[in-house]
Amino acid sequence: MSYSIVDLEKAVRDFGETVVAPNIVGWERTHKAPREIFQEAAEYGFLGLETPIEMGGSGVSFSDKVKFARQLSHYSMATAFAIINSQNIASRLALSSTLRHREELAPELRDGKLVGCTALTEPHAGSDFAAITTTAKKEPGGWRISGEKAWITNAGNADIILLYAQTDPTKGWRGIASFLVDARKSGFSRGERYDLIGGHVIGAGGFVLDNYFAPNEDLIAMPGDAFKSAMSSINGARTYVAAMCAGMLNDAHKKAVTYGKERQSFGVPILQHQGMKWSLVDVAGKIEILDLLTQKASLQIDNGQDAVLSAAIAKKVAGEETLPGLNACIQAMGANGLKEENGLGHHLACAKIAAYTDGSTEMMNERIAASF
Ligand SMILES: Cc1cc2nc3c(=O)[nH]c(=O)nc-3n(C[C@H](O)[C@H](O)[C@H](O)COP(=O)(O)OP(=O)(O)OC[C@H]3O[C@@H](n4cnc5c(N)ncnc54)[C@H](O)[C@@H]3O)c2cc1C
Repeated sequence: MSYSIVDLEKAVRDFGETVVAPNIVGWERTHKAPREIFQEAAEYGFLGLETPIEMGGSGVSFSDKVKFARQLSHYSMATAFAIINSQNIASRLALSSTLRHREELAPELRDGKLVGCTALTEPHAGSDFAAITTTAKKEPGGWRISGEKAWITNAGNADIILLYAQTDPTKGWRGIASFLVDARKSGFSRGERYDLIGGHVIGAGGFVLDNYFAPNEDLIAMPGDAFKSAMSSINGARTYVAAMCAGMLNDAHKKAVTYGKERQSFGVPILQHQGMKWSLVDVAGKIEILDLLTQKASLQIDNGQDAVLSAAIAKKVAGEETLPGLNACIQAMGANGLKEENGLGHHLACAKIAAYTDGSTEMMNERIAASF
């Protein structure tokens, strides 16, 4: 399935209206991360977005993937994030030099039969990624991996995991390699999914590897290369997370403006009161800033340029501005802003999630300051 951006917008709207909007409140109430969303997303081609057309995907640009992320986040950032995380593994394996990855696993990930995720974080190492203690020991024919991962998107559903492990603790980040882990094999056990303040469809949880055997062909990036490759792909993730924040703000702003035009107080629509107008003008400014920042980072990534700084700035601004912006929109809707059905509570939880995933706001400050 190949897309023009107009078709993609239409497909996201259709998926959002028919799959996400009618179900998101139920998923939150039951703390559910339904596996079916991957099959539904596959029918729209969302799990093959970045896979080249000649390999069965849509071959969209990074900028178009960011637009997809922004638009789907009008309905649910957590859903968009879960789908994109699996999509990322599908598109990566489509280009693998290993036949099984390319011809068996990648198509099943694109079809939504398998679910993918990326696992860096551990119970004792989040921001300080180089401090991970999951170990991979070389043995004939492959690697033995043991350790625990935590706070992994799609952990409850994932079959195919891009996992980072330390091969030599004396080498710090240079000892970290990445592996493809198949959750259906022995040595893998899944933990309970986490109960969160919201955004359950993201399926966050953890798992344990106990003497899991990864054959040589499942070594994805060599020690030293893996850390660098994680840091480089994280620029893309920071960019689309910032765009997701713009999407959530955009949805909340539209709802608040509609409410303010219809609801009267003191004989006029609420939106005519200067205090309310100015507050929502500030939100419009935040959306515009986030859109400009994410467009800049996206174009740099499309063009193969260094996006470290612009992605970190976009994510820092998103981390700081989204919650106050959502709060202003909820405030503008009075008590009605609190109703579950409006989706603004879901956005609030997701905005908080966005302030951690792919590096916290504080780590963005560290990243930006490193360029001074
Ligand atoms: C819903 C959800 C989904 C996630 N999905 C994934 C996933 O798919 N894969 C994955 O690998 N990880 C995932 N993560 C983990 C995420 O990347 C981490 O939460 C993030 O890196 C922060 O790590 P931490 O939560 O352990 O916080 P910690 O590292 O414990 O930090 C705690 C606080 O201290 C601050 N802090 C730490 N160091 C500094 C410093 N030097 N200066 C100033 N402040 C500092 C942090 O910013 C944070 O506010 C997910 C997290 C969430 C919430």
